[in-house]
Amino acid sequence: MSAFKDVLASSKHIIAVAGAGLSAASGIPTFRGAGGMWRKYDAFSIATPTAFRDNPSRVWQFYHYRRETARTAQPNDAHRALAEFSFQHIRDRVAPESTFTLITQNVDGLSRKALHSAAQNYDLPVPSDQPDPILLEMHGRLFEVICTANACGHREPNFNSPICPALAGTEELVKAGAEEPNIPLANLPRCTKCGALARPGVVWFEEVPYFMEEINTLVEQADLCLVVGTSSTVQPAASIASDVQDNGGMVAVFNIERTERDDEADFLFLGPCEKTLPAALGMSASERLSI
Ligand code: NAD
Repeated sequence: MSAFKDVLASSKHIIAVAGAGLSAASGIPTFRGAGGMWRKYDAFSIATPTAFRDNPSRVWQFYHYRRETARTAQPNDAHRALAEFSFQHIRDRVAPESTFTLITQNVDGLSRKALHSAAQNYDLPVPSDQPDPILLEMHGRLFEVICTANACGHREPNFNSPICPALAGTEELVKAGAEEPNIPLANLPRCTKCGALARPGVVWFEEVPYFMEEINTLVEQADLCLVVGTSSTVQPAASIASDVQDNGGMVAVFNIERTERDDEADFLFLGPCEKTLPAALGMSASERLSI
């Protein structure tokens, strides 16, 4: 821990790559382990363009279920620590004159929520995205929808619950183990501009994530990469840490268990990130009182 804190103190360009484990303590299941099944399907097999083409009713029920879970979830101490670390004058205490960007694979919106809560708590403006972005949601957002019609492609935020009447209560059917309804296309979410079928505003497996240009620039200049709650198996996020290392930077992994590439890490904090990360960043509850 003290060696990590020395490295943190001298780092000038810090990035974090987060995955589903960051939100696990907020009650949002990861895709691996017990929470990775939805009905009888592996979550990885539903989050694809092919699955949506073949069965939009099933895929929308999966995303409606995830939206309903995420809607009431609250950021945990790991989200809070990263949010506080995003404020320059708070970060200055532990990593003076540094930049910081959180790159998240999560689509649940909890990192943004935490950023806004921190701004409110400390009566500060949300940090600016200039010169470096504060938060890049590389896999999109659960609470956005995109039109599937190529000619339209309209994208907009959508926090409705339920997102459409036909999906109302289908999350309860899942919990009760009841048969999956087949919802007609016309009753699934539609584009508010052109009326075509809408899709969730997330990046599916086989699709290219957002902000790749910004991410590549950040990776080139980063001297420290925090890898938080990700199995580091989904590309391109999985290779961000090794790219930082190849460029001479350091890597610190925060995971509840061993993962594939962590033996290459410079620091490994094994345990729940909602405990290890606030301690490592100097943003734990007691330290928060003195901010
Ligand atoms: P993953 O499900 O493959 O791996 C989760 C990782 O988190 C595992 O390595 C696990 O050991 C670790 N973990 C679990 N609880 C933890 C805790 N309390 N502290 C620290 N680590 C913990 O997730 P992934 O690597 O993000 O990749 C899967 C894909 O699934 C991503 O593309 C992501 O977008 C998507 N996903 C997102 C959410 C979300 O938005 N919250 C949830 C599930 C999946």
